[in-house]
Amino acid sequence: MEKEGHTSQLWAPWRYAYVSDVGRKRDEGCVFCQAPRKSDEEALILYRGKSVYAILNRYPYNNGHLMIVPYRHVARLEELDMEELVEMMKVLRASLKALQEAYKPDGFNVGVNIGKAAGAGIEGHVHVHVVPRWFGDTNYMAVLAGVTVIPQLLSDSYKMLKPLIDKYMGEER
Ligand SMILES: [Zn+2]
Repeated sequence: MEKEGHTSQLWAPWRYAYVSDVGRKRDEGCVFCQAPRKSDEEALILYRGKSVYAILNRYPYNNGHLMIVPYRHVARLEELDMEELVEMMKVLRASLKALQEAYKPDGFNVGVNIGKAAGAGIEGHVHVHVVPRWFGDTNYMAVLAGVTVIPQLLSDSYKMLKPLIDKYMGEER
């Protein structure tokens, strides 16, 4: 079913990260609808806007991997209204600045997986992935995958990124 092309390999990692949780999460409903009902710290929410929020990925492809999510449960970008689209781009821009300042990556992947065939882990609720990239990080993450050092990285990332995104969103207003 899946092609082993370059693009497929590039975007596949977070799909695999979700797979093991999909069954459980389906029972509990949609994770992206539920996250905003929790505290920021518990849900790893980095920023709450009017119509979208930014959240750290618990199954990061790389250090600092975050997602920008509309509060509304819609499956596709076409269903977002103008306010959601504009705020999504503003939060994206602030997130890129925050990640750049915090991690000094060599580049970024910004992407949306739409539909099962594209590797969407949470199909029904559209979200934008923001992944910092470093030269040679593919090997680095292959080593890190599934290792218990990740939770520590998550809380470090959270503490470092939250004030930075706030700062840069302040400049967006
Ligand atoms: Zn949802």
